[in-house]
Amino acid sequence: MTIINQRVRSIRQSATDVVSQLAKQLVAEGHPVINLSIGEPEPDTPEHVKQAAIAAIQAGETKYTAVAGTAELRRAVVAKFARENDLEFSIEQVTVGCGGKPLIFYALQATLEQDDEVIIPAPYWVSYPDMVNLAGGRAVVVPTTSHNGYKLSPEALEASITPRTRWLILNSPNNPTGATYSTQELRALGDVLERHPHVWVLSDELYEHLAFDGKCATSIVTVVPSLRERTLILNGVSKAYAMTGWRVGYVAGPTELINAINALQSQTITHTSSISQAAAIAALNGPRDFVDQHRDSLQKRRDALVTGLKEVEGLSFITPEGAFYAFVAIDGLIGKTAPDGTQIQSDADFAAYLLKQVNVAVIPGEAFGCSPCFRICFAAPPEVISEATQRIKVACQQLQ
Ligand code: PLP
Repeated sequence: MTIINQRVRSIRQSATDVVSQLAKQLVAEGHPVINLSIGEPEPDTPEHVKQAAIAAIQAGETKYTAVAGTAELRRAVVAKFARENDLEFSIEQVTVGCGGKPLIFYALQATLEQDDEVIIPAPYWVSYPDMVNLAGGRAVVVPTTSHNGYKLSPEALEASITPRTRWLILNSPNNPTGATYSTQELRALGDVLERHPHVWVLSDELYEHLAFDGKCATSIVTVVPSLRERTLILNGVSKAYAMTGWRVGYVAGPTELINAINALQSQTITHTSSISQAAAIAALNGPRDFVDQHRDSLQKRRDALVTGLKEVEGLSFITPEGAFYAFVAIDGLIGKTAPDGTQIQSDADFAAYLLKQVNVAVIPGEAFGCSPCFRICFAAPPEVISEATQRIKVACQQLQ
């Protein structure tokens, strides 16, 4: 008899965390593993951000803050939306959390009744379906294909809406595919949503600043202002400012929902660290050069990955338009046999084979609701990316 309840038994630990922990353990044991599993920016947090945190400690900013975050941080968030997204919010319409992840969890907890439906285009970020399940909702997974750039089409959206639909979760630039919706594509989705006023949009814009080839990732609310009263925009400092460990994310949306999220925060985590909040103010109000360099350097890494993987027979993928992942289909390798005699029957088998055979850690596509594929993170330096693609090539050639 287990003490763990049915709700929690129905979820799994995030696959990205599991593979990444395993890869770190192998490195610690002396294996030459290249870990391209977790979504971790490579550069250190910018110096002026670290200095702001040190100054906050020395100034005694070490006590509880408001649940929604300090007024100064919320003003910085409001200024960010005005400056970068052409969206005006009041500080009551934004709140700060312990990373973007718990804010999504709280938004779903605050809004879903039993069996309410949440539309999640696949491939999706690993945590969405489990968070929906934990909130008593039903994840309605809508597959997309590489042929339409892994983007949700207006027709597929229309077909998946029912009277029970509560949310559409839209993530652009996307983890795990890098797909980045254009303003026309957002407009077309907006046209459908305008016909269904009961559907809310959770717009996950965490990779907003990491769009390539001169493209700009646009918020659906900027393109379709009529959705503003039923959209929650999620963003944060983790990916753009190389601040994953500081745990600061933020949302903007209707005050009623923001208040509900704050009520949940106040009864659980209270707020994120006061020191991290001071750092996030420096990031949001500070110079943009770090973000620009970070994006340009990721674009070079993306190019190194694309060049390397194109040479590998059996793999196919679309060039990522943003974020720092490529989503690679391996249909051509299923059914093949590894040198030790094991057969590759799934993407989990393939990821295990890559790790064992050539010490490269990637995440199987099943974790993102799309198989047989794998997600590979290209945040590592170009020479590491090139070495990894060489190893993948060798591993694929050894399959019979
Ligand atoms: N949304 C997406 C699409 C992500 O990839 C992540 C992290 O990997 C998050 C949200 C949450 O990020 P954080 O909690 O670090 O802000």
